Amino acid sequence: MLQEMGVAVWWPAADAVPIANQQLPAPQEAPSSQPPEAIASRAQTAISAAPLIGALPSDERHGRIARMHWPDLQQAVHQCQDCGLCAQRKNTVFGTGPTSVAGSTGAPTPVDWLVVGEAPGEQEDLRGIPFVGPAGQLLDNMLKAVRLRGAGEPALGRQQGIYITNVIKCRPPGNRNPQAAEIAQCLPYLARQISLLQPRLILALGRFAADALLMGSQPGVSQMPLGKLRGQVYAYQGIPVVVSYHPAYLLRNPPDKAKAWADLCLAVQVYQEKTG
Ligand code: SF4
Repeated sequence: MLQEMGVAVWWPAADAVPIANQQLPAPQEAPSSQPPEAIASRAQTAISAAPLIGALPSDERHGRIARMHWPDLQQAVHQCQDCGLCAQRKNTVFGTGPTSVAGSTGAPTPVDWLVVGEAPGEQEDLRGIPFVGPAGQLLDNMLKAVRLRGAGEPALGRQQGIYITNVIKCRPPGNRNPQAAEIAQCLPYLARQISLLQPRLILALGRFAADALLMGSQPGVSQMPLGKLRGQVYAYQGIPVVVSYHPAYLLRNPPDKAKAWADLCLAVQVYQEKTG
């Protein structure tokens, strides 16, 4: 599969990159096997009554989001009008992943990895699902090649251990870059998703995902080229973060697929070190 993608295959050396002490959640129940459309449909419809928060002062709005459980968080994003991107969207794009639900928070579980991209494109906006179209297919194919625990284990994917979302939940018109004010308004939703999902590892794909996740811990991150950010392990709230190229970039720059595969291998190595 990887050869067909033009990716040279190798595995990382045994001397892994050490990262600081992080507390990881215990293993959780097995996921279901629903297709992505069913998961997105469920995300759009299985929502409870959540308070409108757009009129609240910024600090109060952030605090309210930070206390939401999963269904209310889905509802808040679904009806959010807190930046100008709501005007032209067809759907909000909350995220997709395993549909089994854990405990009182109602969050999907288990989540081995959280994949964070930039913002929905045209297809994502139409379908309400992140990473569909050619870039999504490339991401799915690369993740399918990953085995976290051994050769006999099922491949990673949207129904198996991975939750996929974006920094921004509504499509910027014409796929322009999201603006700083839009990111600031939307970031509390991602922060709460991470808090509820407690992924064992975060894969940040592209410039805006890296900035959003690392700006609190890496001074000057927004000035660093992505090529200099990748290849290292960072942390977000104690969760290891690996930075890589966005699949849409890889479609335009196929030679960098090999670097993206090396980043996935690093992510596997870090995950295995943390989970034993
Ligand atoms: S991009 Fe985020 S903050 Fe802006 S309207 Fe959509 S959900 Fe709300």
